[in-house]
Amino acid sequence: MLAVAAIAAGCAPAGTGASGPAHPTPSRQPLKAPPPATTPGPHAGNTPGTHAKKFKSAQSALAARAAAAKRWGLPRIPLTPPPPPATKPRITTREGFEVDGHEKLGLPPVFTTVPTKQRIVFLTIDDGAEKDPVFLRMMDDLQVPYTAFLSDYVIKDDYGYFKRMQRSGVTLNNHTLHHPYLPALSYRRQQYEICGMQEVIEERFGKPALLFRPPFGNYDRDSLRAAKSCGIQYVPLWNEEVFVDHWEYREWDQKIRSGDIVLTHFRGREDWKGTMPDMIRRFLNKVTAEGYAVARLEDYL
Ligand SMILES: [Zn+2]
Repeated sequence: MLAVAAIAAGCAPAGTGASGPAHPTPSRQPLKAPPPATTPGPHAGNTPGTHAKKFKSAQSALAARAAAAKRWGLPRIPLTPPPPPATKPRITTREGFEVDGHEKLGLPPVFTTVPTKQRIVFLTIDDGAEKDPVFLRMMDDLQVPYTAFLSDYVIKDDYGYFKRMQRSGVTLNNHTLHHPYLPALSYRRQQYEICGMQEVIEERFGKPALLFRPPFGNYDRDSLRAAKSCGIQYVPLWNEEVFVDHWEYREWDQKIRSGDIVLTHFRGREDWKGTMPDMIRRFLNKVTAEGYAVARLEDYL
């Protein structure tokens, strides 16, 4: 059973939100990384051998993660995801999400979760209106992977911001040129929206996207045909959406499961009552407390 409200909520225009500066100076986070948290212990030189070295480097990696968590106001250290799987899971379209002739036409699979037994979730961030430099520093520092779905009309005033994001290892994906409700458009118009965004991504960021997410999660057969026609291989939707002040769930029992794709948006104080780092804290606090690590979606596709 699906919670339709959660589906409709994706990318919906935000509420009135709090008034305030668009780029407030963060009060809790230092802008520069402090000096390394660990120094060699008193016996550092007395334990040769790779085991000791490995133990020490694991220890200092943990200490660095603990320090980063503290810097960003997280009560728990985010869990480290397992290495990418040697054999990728088989991604299929979720039951009830197929279009006519889906398999026969070889259309990209539409899914909300990745089949895995590992205790991991995937973070995906949509649109691109808010361009908070503190958010980029936070995610680099915490080493939390995520996947972006960008719409040209909100990113075109600052492609450089997303170029920096890409340089830190984030994959930039397709979320149309103007964020329309696709099923209302003709095939040609849908193709313009999706394939036009492919051209923007290729021109600005070097290579076209393999992942496409339809605005609001709404699509029809033409959307998937158009996406396929310009190289899209996967259409990931989401099972949960995290906001700055609450979570919403697709499933009736309101629980996170292994392999779930979580949606959020590039939004700031103009759209909701907090900053991107505030939202990330809400996201990480819950997934870490429930024992989930955040993994990179592309590693499973
Ligand atoms: Zn959107």
